[in-house]
Amino acid sequence: MEKKHKLYLLLGAGALALFSFFTLQQHSDQPVASMAPLGNAEIVVEPVSEVAFGIRVDTLHLHQAEFKPNQFLADVLLPHHISYPEIDRLVKKAKPVFDVRKLAAGKKFSILTAQDSTAKAHYFIYESSATQYVVFDLRDTMRIYKGEREVEVREATSAGVIQSSLYESLLAAETSPALAMELANMYAWSVDFYRIQKGDRFKVIYEQRFVEGEFIGVGAIKAAVFQHKSEDFYGFYYQQDSLRGDYYDEKGNSLRKAFLQAPLKYSRISSGFSRRRFHPVQKRYKSHLGTDYAAPKGTPIMSVGDGTVVKAGFGRFNGNYVKIRHNGTYSTQYLHMSKIASGMKPGRVVRQGEVIGYVGSTGLATGPHVCFRFWKNGKQVNHRAEKLPASKPIQEEYKADYLEWLEVWKPKLDQVTFPEEEQLPA
Ligand SMILES: [Zn+2]
Repeated sequence: MEKKHKLYLLLGAGALALFSFFTLQQHSDQPVASMAPLGNAEIVVEPVSEVAFGIRVDTLHLHQAEFKPNQFLADVLLPHHISYPEIDRLVKKAKPVFDVRKLAAGKKFSILTAQDSTAKAHYFIYESSATQYVVFDLRDTMRIYKGEREVEVREATSAGVIQSSLYESLLAAETSPALAMELANMYAWSVDFYRIQKGDRFKVIYEQRFVEGEFIGVGAIKAAVFQHKSEDFYGFYYQQDSLRGDYYDEKGNSLRKAFLQAPLKYSRISSGFSRRRFHPVQKRYKSHLGTDYAAPKGTPIMSVGDGTVVKAGFGRFNGNYVKIRHNGTYSTQYLHMSKIASGMKPGRVVRQGEVIGYVGSTGLATGPHVCFRFWKNGKQVNHRAEKLPASKPIQEEYKADYLEWLEVWKPKLDQVTFPEEEQLPA
């Protein structure tokens, strides 16, 4: 049976915290749910089945713990009557399969010991992740091999309404925050999560991954709809070639939006992005965190993507400039304009290709050009070196197949109800 969660996403001061929170989650290599602490002390556990890690365990004692910082293989094996020479032999023998220097603090391990008076360890099992493990068979000739637990994938649904603070509600949510992160990634190009507002709603069908009945993490989102200011943003996971799948809306357009290659139609790059270059005006070496496009004064400058103006004004060095926020990750900035296009002020929504100003040489500039600056997560990066998403729609040859796919997933998604719909009296 599908388990339905309610995840109340929120707004406000929490939105900023959310993204740093997401970033943290993204860099964790372990699914949160698998980190139920065993504690440092070794405990003897009653095996739940006759076989674990592909080994018959019902005739052995099963000890489990997590590696402590600075704990080595010898520290855990010596107490179970494995001698130093034996450990030495084991380490050498393990090398082609697993380097024991990679045993990491916080990872689970199991030791299977004889139930007789020797109490000697027969197996040592190291769990490198929730699904991967290495078996060290300590008996006679010793054998080291890798194993993998079977992952069961279950389909689950979630629906929610944005109430107030995103971050707080995530902490209180029944669903893994990883789902919210997946959702934010999926919609990064189409929904500005900084601008979500109270009353925005979403529904999602996604995968939950289990190992031996234990939840180990969120898998892929299969379909979702995000309702922002009463506008529906659908997204369906679909694989149109053998490489990898992506998200497309109900019309078959990619949810990702590519940026224009340059903010000017006809121009030449007069100075590239560099951490160190000789500044022609200041006559000294400094980094140039932008790309200069030279063009005649008055050439229209276009926004390279959809977004919202966050700054438009004059600076001593920048001259007349406009800065645009595209999504939670990317912003762009355009300097030295002769004139800012009319109506460009903070809060103004711009479309890709829209004229935001005109080439000039205001501020610190030798000749007419636009200094184009590209921000990723608050840092200036070289946009020409960035791997930016392509936004290929569903190709003609896959159109029919995609429509069939939609006929399965859209009704499935539409059947999921928003929380307040449920609360109506029957
Ligand atoms: Zn420049």
